[in-house]
Amino acid sequence: MGLQDALLHMVYPPHCVACDAMVSSDFGLCGSCWRDTPFVAGLVCDLCGTPLPGEDPGHPVHCDDCLRTARPWSHGRAAMLYRDRARDLVLKLKHGDRLDLARPAGGWLMRAAQPIVQPGMLIAPVPLHWLRLLRRRYNQSALLSAQVARLSGLEHCPDLLQRRRNTHSQEGKDRDGRFANVADSIRVHPRRRARAEGRQVLLVDDVMTSGATLAAAAEACLAVGAVGVCVLVLCRVAKEG
Ligand SMILES: [Zn+2]
Ligand SMILES: [Zn+2]
Repeated sequence: MGLQDALLHMVYPPHCVACDAMVSSDFGLCGSCWRDTPFVAGLVCDLCGTPLPGEDPGHPVHCDDCLRTARPWSHGRAAMLYRDRARDLVLKLKHGDRLDLARPAGGWLMRAAQPIVQPGMLIAPVPLHWLRLLRRRYNQSALLSAQVARLSGLEHCPDLLQRRRNTHSQEGKDRDGRFANVADSIRVHPRRRARAEGRQVLLVDDVMTSGATLAAAAEACLAVGAVGVCVLVLCRVAKEG
């Protein structure tokens, strides 16, 4: 094994993170799981990363969802669609104590983020409420943002944002319900305001459904003087089409 392979194996485990088969290549997944994982490719919505049909027209395009909904951020990308193997991986990361998934996921996120990362960006995760953090012991979004920061060399502020109150779960709520549930629920940590001021912030989360939580987080950054916000998610929940 050459030095380069040795280094790769430090980054990506030798076993497939989804099925545990031996993997000889990089990127964390065996060939079969790779094919079953809906990675986003081609033309995408510039605000949420949803794949769009057609050729790249050379200017930013937006999906129906983002045309209908005000997004307080300027660009967004997603690494995968929330279904099949990608859904399993996200649920394992969230509920299964599979912290090892964060490393390969960081690589997938970085690949998706290439068009939107800029020098000087501040990277921050979407926060969990501390009660939920106690129960779950870790914030899966912070694991992901740490990997993105490590791979990009950009500054990481894992506690930039905090939840003001423990919002009810977003599951089972319709779109308007989701936005109402999280409005004003997130703020910049009072001792971290100066970090966001005058900066571009890259918000990282595991899943984007309606975008309500990301909108609340982006508004909080802008309220303390961030000059702009971009969002990066591991999975985008896309309507079946
Ligand atoms: Zn596999
Ligand atoms: Zn969109």
